[in-house]
Parts: sequence; C-alpha cells; structure tokens
Amino acid sequence: MEELERTFDRLSGVLEDLSFATVREWKEDHPGGKAVAYFPVYAPVEIIHAAGMLPVGLAGAGDRLDIQHADSRFGSFICSIVKTTMEMGMTGHLQPFDGFLFSTICDSARNLCFVLKRNSPSMYVDFLHLPHNPASSASLDFLEDEYRRLMGELERLGGTRITEEALRSSIDLFNHQRGLIRRLYQMRAEKPPKLRAWESYLLTRAGNFLPVETHIATLESALDLLAERPGRRHDSIRVVVEGSFCEQPPLEVIRMLEAAGCDIVEDDFALGQRWFEGGVSTDGDPVRALAKSYVDHAVYSSVRHDFRKPRWEGLAEKIRGTGAEAVIMLIAKFCEPAYFDYVLFKKKIEEMGIPHLLLEFEEKLFTFDRLRTEVETFVESLVFD
Ligand code: SF4
Repeated sequence: MEELERTFDRLSGVLEDLSFATVREWKEDHPGGKAVAYFPVYAPVEIIHAAGMLPVGLAGAGDRLDIQHADSRFGSFICSIVKTTMEMGMTGHLQPFDGFLFSTICDSARNLCFVLKRNSPSMYVDFLHLPHNPASSASLDFLEDEYRRLMGELERLGGTRITEEALRSSIDLFNHQRGLIRRLYQMRAEKPPKLRAWESYLLTRAGNFLPVETHIATLESALDLLAERPGRRHDSIRVVVEGSFCEQPPLEVIRMLEAAGCDIVEDDFALGQRWFEGGVSTDGDPVRALAKSYVDHAVYSSVRHDFRKPRWEGLAEKIRGTGAEAVIMLIAKFCEPAYFDYVLFKKKIEEMGIPHLLLEFEEKLFTFDRLRTEVETFVESLVFD
C-alpha cells in the first residue's frame, strides 16, 4: 500500500503547488500548446481539450497566498476564492495560463471575471453564459450557440479548428474519467474504511490540474490498489457533507471531520469533476450532445436552478441512497448560493428527521479547535442518543 501513500503525497503536492508545475510540464511537452484555466463550478472541459488545450480548474489559492492587492478591488463581504484568484492574477501566478473562463454561478464570480479581464489585458478572459432555467425550451439552443461561440474564441486563441471527431474523442475521454470517479464514490459509500474522504478528495480534485489522460491512469491504478486494501472498521456515523461545491475546504478540515467520527459517504467537493449523472452521448452532433447533458443530465447544484428536479430532492436522494445518518453543511464564508440553499436544504432534512450541523470555513483556516469541538459534540450526541 506504499504506492497508494506515495500517490496521495504526490497529489497533495499538485493541489498545493501555486507554480503550477504540472501545467508548465504539459506546455513543455506540447510546444505552442495553450492552457486555459476555468473557475468553478463547471466548465465544458471537453471543448477546451478538443481545441488541443489543457483545461485547468482553479479554485483559489488556499492558504498559500497573502492578500496584498485584491482587497482594493473587492468589497469586504466576498468569499475567499474570489480574492485569492484575483491576487494570483495580480502577482504573476497566472502566468502559465493563456486564458481564463468564468461562468454564471454568482455575482462575485461574474465581477471577478470582468475585474480580472480589466487587470489582465494580455490574457483571453471569457464569460460563459450557462442557461439559468434548464426547464425552458429555449435553453438547449441557447447553450449550443454559447458553446459554438466559445469554440470560435478558442480556435482564434489556439489557431486550431475544433473538429467533430476531436470533440467526440474528448467526450469519450472525459466520460471515462467521470465513470472512474463515480466508481471511487461508490466504493467509499459502500466501504468507507477502505477509502477515506480526504483520499478520494485528492484523487478527484487532482483532475482539475492533471491532463485527463494522466488523471485517468492515476484513478485506474488507485482503484486497483484500493480493491486490495483491507480497511479497518471503526465506530463512526455515516454523514453527507454538502455546501462545498465551489470554494474548497482545507484538506485538514476533511481529515478533522473523519477523525472526529464521521464516515463521509457523499459530498459535493470538486463538483465539476462529477457534473453529469452519466456519460455524454457520442452519437450525433457532439456540441448538441454536450449542451443536452448540461440541460438534462447535470447533477443538482446550488448554482444551477432546475425546477424539474429540485435541489433539496437531490440531497434527499443522496441521503437515502447512501443510508446517511446525518448531514454536515460545510459552507464557505460569504458564499451566497450555499447560504441561500441552506434554508431549503434544512427544511427538507428536518422533514426527513435527519440531524444536521452547519459549519463555516475559509481557505485560510489555521486552527480547527472550535470546529473539531462542534463536530465531536454533534457526533457524540448521535452515537449516545
Ligand atoms: S464560493 Fe460561493 S460566492 Fe464564492 S465564487 Fe463560489 S459560488 Fe460564488
């Protein structure tokens, strides 16, 4: 199992690395190749890949960058990743990237896109308009048009035409990658002692940084090794963690939740890596197929409003499907979409008689004593109930 430990160490290094060595290596191996960053939660990575580019999911700088410039660009009540992403832009950390793609997730992300654009005149910065109401009959055509507009921009940036064949083959690759992540989550829900949530978080989120081909190889090897892993049983409660779909909690917070007695059987960490419920179709027009998957087969999320499948029902299904005994709402400070949805989720889980705990985090969180005490008290109240 030493190989697994080495994999987790390596991936932890990839996630921490603000010099983006993996992106620089990819560019050395692909002379003239472009790297395009995207802000959470979701981006059509298949289109970026089919343009011959490296898609890289950036969710702030964690606790590794002091804010010196970004504060003067934003008000005080803004989540941390907006500020640390801006700080990266203003301190040369985004130098390996040729483009940055944002989308319709919240007002803060929208403002970040245009403030970054104004401050980075030499970088291609774009805003992707994802449909607000997938139930509308106009959404599919609207999104297909928007994807075609993006393709035109990427073709201009990279000088390569995006063919149907290339897009189909990229869809195939990302379908395979998401299928492996689904297997990882299934294994964890069935046998949490075999695979801890912090380990599956590293394996999943690494897909934001690594080329998809490398990520697939990493996942396949890890799944083979995990199948042989015995996994020690321990007394814990089965918990769904919800609310960290955009800004990511420090890894230590996930480890702390597990050490305090939670088996995290489901979560919404790095949600873009699991965005579709199944594979995107490779039949017919691939741009249309990608748009259709977004409109009809995306997972529920606080940044996507599909009134045909209410989000609180999605959470209820998660709870029932995993046999969870409790929910931890783990929300980034000042994250409006997550706090608005907390009201709806709370109502649903109370109806179901499922206990929950609300915790707030920031990227820069150095002491966890207060959080640990809250979680331990919550777990004990359930274990000794
Ligand atoms: S963490 Fe929340 S508020 Fe901040 S950019 Fe993401 S969705 Fe918007």
